[in-house]
Amino acid sequence: MGPIHDGVDGLSDTATQGAVLPLPPPPPPYPATTTSGERTKGSLGDGGVSMASRDLLSDRLFDEGYKADVKIYSTGGGIVYAHANILGMASPVFRGMMKKSKKQGRFQILTVGGVPHDAVRGFIRFLYSSRYEKEDMEEFVLHLLVLSHVYVVPQLKRLCEYHLERGMINMENVVDVFQLALLCDASRLGFVCHRTIMRNFKEVSATEGWTAMKKSHPILEKLLVEYLVEEDNLRKERIRKSKERKIYLQLYEAMEALVHICRDGCRTIGPHDKAFRKDHPPCSFEACKGLELLVRHFAGCKLRAMGGCVHCRRMWQVLELHSRLCADPGTCRVPLCRNFKDRIRKQNKKDEMKWKILTRKILRTKTIGGGPFFSAAQLL
Ligand SMILES: [Zn+2]
Ligand SMILES: [Zn+2]
Ligand SMILES: [Zn+2]
Repeated sequence: MGPIHDGVDGLSDTATQGAVLPLPPPPPPYPATTTSGERTKGSLGDGGVSMASRDLLSDRLFDEGYKADVKIYSTGGGIVYAHANILGMASPVFRGMMKKSKKQGRFQILTVGGVPHDAVRGFIRFLYSSRYEKEDMEEFVLHLLVLSHVYVVPQLKRLCEYHLERGMINMENVVDVFQLALLCDASRLGFVCHRTIMRNFKEVSATEGWTAMKKSHPILEKLLVEYLVEEDNLRKERIRKSKERKIYLQLYEAMEALVHICRDGCRTIGPHDKAFRKDHPPCSFEACKGLELLVRHFAGCKLRAMGGCVHCRRMWQVLELHSRLCADPGTCRVPLCRNFKDRIRKQNKKDEMKWKILTRKILRTKTIGGGPFFSAAQLL
């Protein structure tokens, strides 16, 4: 008779058993549901009654070790009994190991090192029935991830990644999980960890895991910090660009409003040849109000003759900018439009470039290559 395990739910008490063969279990409960009660089924192989009873059979085969022919020594000191054909079917690495393994009576001897005995046991159980204990997954998920990678059991690897990604990663373990994900080629998991580290850098960099990584893998630490700096720069650049865009958009709107004031008139000001209507419809140009005040100030400022105040200078700039965008100075009603055009012709190359860049940027914010008032020629 093959070696048997003491109890159907004895998954957690094998570490102390050492090399002694366990006692026979009590008769297995019937029907199948009682055994799987404690056991949480994995997402795989979950398919109705026949599948469930087949899984149960696989579990029993593992638990009772009927005609087992492999002894797996774990470095924790325990032994897990298994069947060569099942190990060989489930893992190409075990298949290879068994070709070279020593024999001890009818048993082939294998060793699985570096992880706790119960993790090895949970791992071998999975090879039988694609099932695992919930507690095993919670306690040994990182060990199971490594085992599934080393022994090439992709189903289990996916399950470990699944559980880690959905709630098992925290600030304390994220650095360890990240390193394991890199070692185990678990790219999705690595990405999730990386994102978690970047988003919680302050907290994560204060953990023991981070300190340990700094010692063992300084290059990795350096890369993460560099990436963080790069992310931060990109974020700042995005904010700067969006602010800049907003300014150009405001300038564009001011230019539209200026043409509208000088052509149609708005509220209190307008062209001298146009009569004011009391029932003026509400103005649709957002920039009109501010510009209206500026135009009124410009018309009456006492300092204008001496070069003007800060508001006057602003108005000059607005007028010059208009002139540079204006497509039709011949019929344009904006004051000084043509004067500026004449002056522009005599301007030096450096100033010319400065204005060209500005007008291009303003027009581009509208992405229409010149709005209803302005010339697309400015973009050339
Ligand atoms: Zn208006
Ligand atoms: Zn002024
Ligand atoms: Zn004009």
